[in-house]
Amino acid sequence: MTTSHQAFHEQSLTELAATLRSKQASAVEVAEHFLTRISADQAANLAADPQGQNTGAFLDVQREVTLAQARAAQERINAGTGGCLEGVPIAHKDVFVTRDFATTAGSKMLKGYRSPFDATVVQKLGSGVNGQGGAGMVSLGKVSCDEFAMGSSNENSAYGAVKNPWDAHRIPGGSSGGSAAAVAARLAPAATGTDTGGSIRQPASFCGITGIKPTYGRASRYGMIAYASSLDQAGAMARSAEDCALLLSAMCGGDVERDSTSLDLQAENFSAALGNRLNGLRVGIPKEFFGDGLATDVRSAIDVALDALQAQGALLVPISLPRTELSIPVYYIIAPAEASSNLSRFDGVKFGHRAPEYTDLVDMYKKSRAQGFGDEVKRRIMTGAYVLSHGYYDAYYLQAQKIRRMIADDFQAAFAQCDVLAGPVAPTVAWKLGEKTDDPIANYLADIFTLPASLAGLPAMSFPVGFGDAQMPVGMQLIGNYLQEAKLLNVAHQFQLTTDHHLRSPEGV
Ligand code: GLN
Repeated sequence: MTTSHQAFHEQSLTELAATLRSKQASAVEVAEHFLTRISADQAANLAADPQGQNTGAFLDVQREVTLAQARAAQERINAGTGGCLEGVPIAHKDVFVTRDFATTAGSKMLKGYRSPFDATVVQKLGSGVNGQGGAGMVSLGKVSCDEFAMGSSNENSAYGAVKNPWDAHRIPGGSSGGSAAAVAARLAPAATGTDTGGSIRQPASFCGITGIKPTYGRASRYGMIAYASSLDQAGAMARSAEDCALLLSAMCGGDVERDSTSLDLQAENFSAALGNRLNGLRVGIPKEFFGDGLATDVRSAIDVALDALQAQGALLVPISLPRTELSIPVYYIIAPAEASSNLSRFDGVKFGHRAPEYTDLVDMYKKSRAQGFGDEVKRRIMTGAYVLSHGYYDAYYLQAQKIRRMIADDFQAAFAQCDVLAGPVAPTVAWKLGEKTDDPIANYLADIFTLPASLAGLPAMSFPVGFGDAQMPVGMQLIGNYLQEAKLLNVAHQFQLTTDHHLRSPEGV
């Protein structure tokens, strides 16, 4: 369906691609439209909060860079050589390094940092790897996230917390909070995100959009600033499953020379499988995802959505993931352990913040790191160093690795009985800004439903299924077996064909 009469920000990614391909609008017009919306949003945020405590979604916008990319895209469209999303704008999470925009990972440590290259995912979505075979998207800039992707509320960004477009007093979720808020506020038709323990799914759920984290290794981690390397995975955030399928197809694909954990697989066309009926599909319902910790408003929205899947022919199969609760301590040992190692490179020598005054080399390291990192990052570095230290390694890190394997085995037992798993993304809707800032454990506990799939390296997604308390969006999580992204996207797409939650936008947007 082409809807050229609709404002560009009202069009889906799929519609915008068609509008551009059929030359009903130029890539420059579309880019200018979104840039205007972004600057209006930034001005409104600044007016509401001159101290900049709470910010808009965008951290770096470079109008001329975006317009130059749009002009180049239009030339390719005119020449008939455009990629599958040629000229369509996108926002990138600030953990993907970019040559033309600053990359900070939401940290003071990397304030103003310019990378000499673009991350593989950015290249694939843009003009291609070495200028070859890219999707042709135009970058609108970089969007906010929790510092080094550590967090669930976006409040750990050194540049202020992004507000939820559905309620400015609430968090957008995290760590990809800027990505989710930008899509929900129609400042970008799509965004990249990264998910280590839920950072695509949870903000997608809290902001009423669709987001998918593929199987670990599907998308290259090259140029993605590392948090916990055995868990980090790039993924797609947009309004619908159809849009996410397009985006994910363009960003995945083997990159073994630059990322040794990348799966040596050709890019797959995830859009091709979107037409399958749900008749006979076995949807596993993990009983541990529906216990006392689940808020009743979220539970009701999920129950209604499960009924809708059943009405389409899906069969609900009760299953168990018995180690769900253990995923919290396991994740919060393994992720900080890897983070403490990954973040050792920020020492003030090669890049990043260097303390202006110091007495010797060790003092320089100490002061640079003390000044550059925020509280949550320091907490994780300390936890990570502790669990890896001699005498504690066996008790914590090794145990956690063993249970991680058991969690993965539990999923395989479940997939012997069903095709996909469904449940909530988070125990509650988005909470109020400041509500959990002094309580890191409360933040960690809210990750309970997203951590298991991350620990197992499985693909998982969130899509909007209704509204809970305070009219805040609720997302449903789908988890698939390895490389079953297409199946997940199809289930969400079939749901979206008969519902309109994904089409709603916050008031005033
Ligand atoms: N909330 C989790 C954490 O703080 C997950 C973050 C993520 O997926 N990047 O680590």
